[in-house]
Amino acid sequence: MRAALLLAAALLLPAPDVSPSVRRAKAFADAVRAVNERHAEKPGKAKEDDLAALLPKEARKALDSLLAEKDSPDLAPALLVAAGGALDLDLEEEFGRIRERLEKAAPAEAAKAGFLVSRPRFLALGRDGVTREYLEDFAGIVEGILGGYDEVFGFEEWSKVPGKKLRFLVHQVPRITRPPHFAPEFEFHSQVDFPVPPEERITSPTPQGQFLFYGLCHELGHVIAMMDRGSVKVDHHQWAHYTGVAVVEHLAGRKPEPPWLDRMRDARWRSLTKERERLKDAKPGLDGEDGVLKTLVSLHDTVGPRAIGEAINRLDREDERERVNRVRYYDFKGIRKALLEVVKEPAKRKAVEEILKI
Ligand SMILES: [Zn+2]
Repeated sequence: MRAALLLAAALLLPAPDVSPSVRRAKAFADAVRAVNERHAEKPGKAKEDDLAALLPKEARKALDSLLAEKDSPDLAPALLVAAGGALDLDLEEEFGRIRERLEKAAPAEAAKAGFLVSRPRFLALGRDGVTREYLEDFAGIVEGILGGYDEVFGFEEWSKVPGKKLRFLVHQVPRITRPPHFAPEFEFHSQVDFPVPPEERITSPTPQGQFLFYGLCHELGHVIAMMDRGSVKVDHHQWAHYTGVAVVEHLAGRKPEPPWLDRMRDARWRSLTKERERLKDAKPGLDGEDGVLKTLVSLHDTVGPRAIGEAINRLDREDERERVNRVRYYDFKGIRKALLEVVKEPAKRKAVEEILKI
């Protein structure tokens, strides 16, 4: 009885005070969160690089004080909290200072924090043995792929919250057992989870036959448009497959060749030409993988990928697609409507109506 009463009393006590280190780290991370929340409510034209200026001085001071602390058991966990905050606002310099402090205080925790490489449209975080050199090389390839997407489709927005950069989490695994995937659950940004084998630089396909290069191109298709809402459950992979093979093929034929392309041999097995040939007798439709893919390839061959890109951009500009947890979901009805607004030539408009019979 007495023990139960004591326990009840203990449950009513306020939680013990957090350490000053954790308090400083939280002050910094909470301020980052507040900036992201305000931006997500009304993104406007602001880019993530503009948002850093909105971080209050007190938050930066809290980080400075944390970094100036002496070593203590509380320091490493607090630094990891601060590192998470720096990542959420793409604060590359701050992340570097936090990492440096972690290396002195707790090298094992520094490895957990990983490396950050920031580029104008995305940031790449390398963990679990991914070196800075590997990550820099990876970032160059992603820039090349995004350039390929620009040239083929011209999609304008790459993140669920407009203006925020896309994230790639690149982590080493002894053997790849799961393909890369688009992780839509983050609150303020879109992220691609990308497991890689232990190699000095990416090569594709891997010795085990995994198509890392095509995989990256495919996942970016998911980032652009999710579609499996309602009763149709198969088309979002076909969409990503279509954009993926279109971009692989485009980059493989690019002159001058990007220097990393000789390590990416995916186009021999994954290309739009191969799919077009495989589907030559299939009928466009929306109820089955081949039908959906044939629909997309037929649109590509009649109105062209730029019109498809412009249709998606138009639906975004007019906010005419569904958002779930801020992730953009499209359906073929909306794409058809937007295509008919974008495409002016009568013969091409007729083709859209024939391919997309909804
Ligand atoms: Zn997929």
